[in-house]
Amino acid sequence: MTYRAPVRDLAFSLEAAADLGRLAQAFPGADRDTVQAVLEAAGDFAAEVLAPLNRPGDLAGAAYENGSVTAAPGFAEAYKQFADGGWMGLAADPAWGGQGLPKALDLAVSEMVQAANLSFGLCPILTQGAADAIEKNGTKRQKALYLPKLVSGQWTGAMNLTESQSGSDLGGVATRAEPEGDGFRLTGQKIFITWGDHDAAENIVHLVLARLPDAPEGSRGLSLFLAPKFLVGEDGTLGPRNNLRCAYIEHKLGIHASPTCVMLYEGARAELVGAPHAGLAAMFVMMNAARLQVGVQGVAIAERAYQQALAYALERRQGRSPWTGDYPARLYDQPDVRRTLMLAKARIEAGRGLCLTTAVAADLGRLARGPAAQEAARQREALLTPIAKAWCTDMGVEVASAALQVHGGMGFIEEIGAAQYYRDARILPIYEGTNGIHAIDLVGRKLLLGGGQAVRDLIGEIATTAVSLQAADGAVLHAVGARLEAGAAAAEQASDWLAGRRGPSEADLLAGATAYLKLLGDVIGGWMLGKGALAAAARLAAGEGAEDYFKGKIALARLYAEQVLTLTPGMAAAVTQGAEVMEVAAEAL
Ligand SMILES: Cc1cc2nc3c(=O)[nH]c(=O)nc-3n(C[C@H](O)[C@H](O)[C@H](O)COP(=O)(O)OP(=O)(O)OC[C@H]3O[C@@H](n4cnc5c(N)ncnc54)[C@H](O)[C@@H]3O)c2cc1C
Repeated sequence: MTYRAPVRDLAFSLEAAADLGRLAQAFPGADRDTVQAVLEAAGDFAAEVLAPLNRPGDLAGAAYENGSVTAAPGFAEAYKQFADGGWMGLAADPAWGGQGLPKALDLAVSEMVQAANLSFGLCPILTQGAADAIEKNGTKRQKALYLPKLVSGQWTGAMNLTESQSGSDLGGVATRAEPEGDGFRLTGQKIFITWGDHDAAENIVHLVLARLPDAPEGSRGLSLFLAPKFLVGEDGTLGPRNNLRCAYIEHKLGIHASPTCVMLYEGARAELVGAPHAGLAAMFVMMNAARLQVGVQGVAIAERAYQQALAYALERRQGRSPWTGDYPARLYDQPDVRRTLMLAKARIEAGRGLCLTTAVAADLGRLARGPAAQEAARQREALLTPIAKAWCTDMGVEVASAALQVHGGMGFIEEIGAAQYYRDARILPIYEGTNGIHAIDLVGRKLLLGGGQAVRDLIGEIATTAVSLQAADGAVLHAVGARLEAGAAAAEQASDWLAGRRGPSEADLLAGATAYLKLLGDVIGGWMLGKGALAAAARLAAGEGAEDYFKGKIALARLYAEQVLTLTPGMAAAVTQGAEVMEVAAEAL
């Protein structure tokens, strides 16, 4: 089945859930017409150029031969079109050739790219992340030399953190950097490097975490280096190959067309980015941008899988429908299948709203009026990022699984396509920091932001939306508001309990981390849908037309409230259970 870009839903989410209007002062060029035009053009490109390459890319994969990687069939040509279309630099600074549009709009575009072709979409994610890291940490010379090429997409970027002994804990990174002349030589091996080698662009800019000779132990001894595949002259021209190469590519469960490379650094020439031993902080710029993008990948794969399941449910007939009396009836007219589809759609819209809201916070963190507003926005972005990454990627896997289930046995047959989405989705909770690590980040660091005020403010805003829903016209909105209010109360109770579990009760804090992230994600999802329902009700009242569409938004909020928000008090109990119950010897398990 082909991909249908959800331009209307994205535009609705940007306005109703993520409050894109708050960016009007900072981005006067991003008016409603521009946003619509960009979304439509991106949707066409995703559906017509990228989506048709998805299944062939899964079958053929990227190829490795004699030390070089060839991108999957058609990918290099599509990449050229992507770069020529200016998509890489949509949100980048015009000083480097970007278009200076909001990150939130760029993320909406990215959702369509990722949904059309997840393997392809990883290349721009890493390239934009590398550009961000150089922009924040690089010297004037590094910015002038590398940013225009990355922003235009002429060169791509890759992120080199992981080594076989060092994954979640980067303190064990062993790649060495020896000073030589006015630069450095890198020696070591990195594994799992996405788009670490390929033939789709003329150069690859590797950002590499490595250790200087005098480096302290652990993660505080890491520095960030830039090592290009082809050496770059001072005028930007390409020189000889650097001493780095791909040893082989991994054979994976999914995303076959994304080359996952084992990279060998054999005295590769490199330059330092940022201060010595401050590499992890510098790399965090790239990691944070990528985390939100991976959250978007979760939404995207869910949308793609959902679209296919909906199409199948409208076509396939089985059993009698209690609604229509038809025999055989469309699967769509079986209540359990309809519930599955609606819940999937509601969770997609919840995740979409969460990612776009995080991106709006990122935009405001740079450009809001006044330092206090900027700091509040930065804290909001920092708080929401691990939730967007982990909640949306777990949701992506679950929705891809549910969408496969809607196909019955056909879902398990590769030719149908649902299986690819499920396989592709499974990496998302693992890379860019496993979801477990993001949950620990949430309870360990993000809960403390502003002395706990950041999370209190967030829950306060959710409670305010719950009040608005209960004050609005209509029993359905009242019911959604009541469920959201209970969800906000559960989130508050769990947050307070965790805040009291620091120090000696750290095991309690960590044991509740994943349940807490899910609880906050579920409640934020209800908030996004509640805001959408309020906006839809306002448009219905204004007689804008498209009644079915807006009624659908209210129905999704109601279903989510009854199927998800009702469970939040139970989730709070799971968060606050503590670690004692797990004091069980391994032999007992
Ligand atoms: C397809 C693919 C692409 C990738 N792309 C890149 C890339 O471009 N660049 C790059 O540098 N890396 C990349 N990675 C690596 C990826 O980021 C790591 O696999 C990931 O961070 C997890 O590290 P690990 O595999 O060593 O797992 P481990 O760290 O060994 O973790 C194993 C399990 O233990 C849990 N765990 C670990 N530590 C703790 C703890 N302290 N508390 C609680 N639970 C814990 C984890 O959540 C996980 O479930 C990629 C990986 C894959 C598979």
